[in-house]
Amino acid sequence: MKKNSATKDLKFDTKWTYAPAPESADHIQLKDRYDLFINGKFTAPASKKYFDTINPATEKRIASVAEANASDVDKAVTAAKNAQSKVWSKLAPAERGKYIYRIARILQEKARELAIIETINGGKPIRESRDIDIPLAAAHFFYYAGWADKLDYAFPGMKTSPVGVAGQIIPWNFPLLMAAWKIAPALAAGNTVVLKPAETTPLTALKLAEIIQEADLPPGVVNIITGAGATGAAIVNHPNINKIAFTGSTDVGKIIQKSLAGTDKRYTLELGGKAANIIFEDAAINQAVEGIINGIFFNQGHVCCAGSRLFVQEGIANEVIKKLKQRIETLIVGDPLDKNTDIGAINSKAQLSKIKSLVQTGIKEGGECWQSECAVPSKGFWFKPTLFTNVAQSSTIVQEEIFGPVLAIQTFRTAEEVIEKANNTPYGLSGGVWTDKGAKAFKISSKLNAGVVWANTYNKFDPTSPFGGYKESGVGREGGLHGLMPYVNLF
Ligand code: ADP
Repeated sequence: MKKNSATKDLKFDTKWTYAPAPESADHIQLKDRYDLFINGKFTAPASKKYFDTINPATEKRIASVAEANASDVDKAVTAAKNAQSKVWSKLAPAERGKYIYRIARILQEKARELAIIETINGGKPIRESRDIDIPLAAAHFFYYAGWADKLDYAFPGMKTSPVGVAGQIIPWNFPLLMAAWKIAPALAAGNTVVLKPAETTPLTALKLAEIIQEADLPPGVVNIITGAGATGAAIVNHPNINKIAFTGSTDVGKIIQKSLAGTDKRYTLELGGKAANIIFEDAAINQAVEGIINGIFFNQGHVCCAGSRLFVQEGIANEVIKKLKQRIETLIVGDPLDKNTDIGAINSKAQLSKIKSLVQTGIKEGGECWQSECAVPSKGFWFKPTLFTNVAQSSTIVQEEIFGPVLAIQTFRTAEEVIEKANNTPYGLSGGVWTDKGAKAFKISSKLNAGVVWANTYNKFDPTSPFGGYKESGVGREGGLHGLMPYVNLF
């Protein structure tokens, strides 16, 4: 692994160092053990089994959560079905909207607590959970609350009816935000839900269950059950589920798509990605460097739309890579609760070994690996920001999603070449273009086979904007008006 000490120009801490500014977690109230949230009540699992959820930055246990089996899934789906047909779909749409607004407001009130829980359970820097995850989760509830009584305007000339019970399975990278993406549009359109958070990050979803109780939603409208893959599969295969919304790996997405084939269940799948972040010679270089950093190191690179392939036009490659290395050396890696921290803990031991193994493959295949010289804590799961140069289109680390802080860098000469290379992947979720020519930004982005393309920025999210992929990145869109469509029948 190549170290590069010629990159110290931006090292600011020779005289001044950042004093730790940890967010206090003392006031956080978590139970020692969480049951399943079914029909408005926390209920012990039929299996009587519980599993531990830990803090990936310290490896310490935080709480135990219940493991739902097929009979718990059945209870949750039955509660959702009854609530849908007897209560939720009968409510005036404006009344449904009021409940959703109430959830949004309570999320805002409890934002600090939720941000801390998201950080201790998932490893992401508090700055991100505080400034991005939680505010965006509330924003999704606010946005879809507004649509609840305006569905006739959402789809002009058409009438809508709810689809029924939605089974929603979410990943560990944005736990509360993904719950909001899924639950808010479903409820606005008159559906009820059974949601399962990922096994490593269940705590904010369980807090959301408490918020739903506090908001006094009719029992059964939202059911939140915990467990691993088998619980997810039981939701997917339950006969009374009408729609599946899944965000996670492409491998599991394919399993789900196979199980749903031949059924009349609707589905949306938001899967992996391997986005190209493209920097042209006429780009504002310092801004582009910030965009590259944000694109790959936001949330430790645990982002399906991460800009994990960097394409730099040849004439500026040396300058961009040099500046990138300098900037990486200034990133603070460590305690996720510290407000100075830029890069937190890797979400789990399993994810850390996956990242390590793909990096080893990259080296074996001839890639040149450069890593930050930053120190990392001895306990917990950590991976230093890493760059690869000398990689080819066929390299494993250029084709496969690493889902970690690892950037593969390639160069290009012409626009045609970079479009060809950018699209040459099984995925098609997102991309970035950096140029000071507006026309070029439009031309390139329209040719990228990706659901979202950012121009001169990266990783910007908004509830009004649809998000989703092509090819192996999935089917369907979430967010905006598009995000309502999977939850309504139109006639
Ligand atoms: P990752 O690779 O990011 O961990 P996964 O696709 O394995 O993503 O997990 C995303 C979500 O899918 C999690 O909530 C997980 O428990 C769930 N899951 C895993 N396997 C299955 C399955 N066979 N059917 C349904 N859900 C599953």
